[in-house]
Amino acid sequence: MEKSEMLEKINKLAGEIGRDVNLMEVCGTHTQVISRSGICKVLPKNVHLITGPGCPVCVTAQGDIDAIISLALAGVPVATYGDLLRVPGQFGSLDQAREKGAKVFDVYSTEDALKLKEENPDLVFFGLGFETTTPMTAWAIKKGLTVYSTHKRFLPAMEALLAAGEVRIDGFIDPGHVSAIIGERPYDDLDAAQVITGFTEDDVLQGILMLLDQIKENRKDVENQYKRVVKKEGNKNARKIINEVFEIGDGDWRGFGIIANSGLEIREKYEKFDAKKKYKSILDKIDFSKSVDPNGCRCGDVIRGMINPKQCPMFARVCTPENPVGPCMVSVEGACHNFFREAE
Ligand code: SF4
Repeated sequence: MEKSEMLEKINKLAGEIGRDVNLMEVCGTHTQVISRSGICKVLPKNVHLITGPGCPVCVTAQGDIDAIISLALAGVPVATYGDLLRVPGQFGSLDQAREKGAKVFDVYSTEDALKLKEENPDLVFFGLGFETTTPMTAWAIKKGLTVYSTHKRFLPAMEALLAAGEVRIDGFIDPGHVSAIIGERPYDDLDAAQVITGFTEDDVLQGILMLLDQIKENRKDVENQYKRVVKKEGNKNARKIINEVFEIGDGDWRGFGIIANSGLEIREKYEKFDAKKKYKSILDKIDFSKSVDPNGCRCGDVIRGMINPKQCPMFARVCTPENPVGPCMVSVEGACHNFFREAE
C-alpha cells in the first residue's frame, strides 16, 4: 500500500474512533525510525505516539552502571557497547574512568570482546539488552567470556506498564527484534491491542493502521505486520541458548525499579564467568543508596511514557547529545536523544 493511501486510511480510522488514542512503541529502533521519518507530524491530531522502555542503555539501572564503573576503576578491564560509556553515575562515566587510566573498551559485538580477552584475560563484558542481544552473550559465556549481566526479558516491562496504569495505552507497536526471538505467542497474555512491527517508515505506518483498526473494532489481538522476519514460533535455537546459560530472576530497571521475573542471571553451571560472583568483594563495597538518577534528570518518567522529553526542564537547555545529563540523551535509541535530533 502506498504511503498516501495508508495515511488516508489512518485519518479515516482516527476520525471514526473520535477520541485521543495513545500508541506506545517499545523498541529503540522504532523510536529512531519514528523520529527520523517525522511520522508524528503527519498523524491525525488525536493519534499520539509515546516512547516506552525500549532503549536498553536507558533502562539499565543506575546501580548496574555504578557497578561496572567501580570494576573498571578497581583495575578490571571492561568492555561494552559504545553508548554506555558516556552514561554518568556516582563514580563518573566509563569514559571518565578510561581518562583516569582504567582499561575500558567499546565493542560492537561479543565476538570483539572475546578477541580482547586474549590480551586481557580478566576482561569483563557488560552485557545489556533484551532477548535480541542475550543469545550472543550466552554464546560468548560458553566460549569463556566473563560477563556482568543486566540482560532483561522484555514482556514483564510491558505487563508492568499496563499494571501501573499511569499512562493509558490503547495499543503497543511490539518490538520487531525481540519478537524475532520470542515469537508471537508470549504477547497473548497482554491486555492490549498489539501489532508486531518492522522497521521501515512504511512498516510503522502500517502497524499504526492495523492498531487503529483493532481499536475501532474494540479488539485486543496480537497481529504480525513483520511476518517477513518474525515467525509465529520465534527463534527456538536462540531461546535454547538463552535458557541454557541464563535463568530468570528479578530485573532492576531504570524508571521501574525491580520487575519480577524480568532479569536474566547467569546459571550456576557458568558461575565461573559471572562477574557479579567473581568480583563480589569489589561490588559489595558500593553504596548503592547513592545510585540514583542524575540530579533533575527525568529519564525514569520518560521511559514509562509519563512525560515526553520536551517536558523535562533540562531538555535542550542543559541536556544535549553533546552534553548529556542522563542515558535517555546519551543513547542514540533514547527518547530524549531522538526528540533532540528531530527538533534540530
Ligand atoms: S532531557 Fe536529559 S535530563 Fe531530561 S530526562 Fe532526558 S536525559 Fe534526563
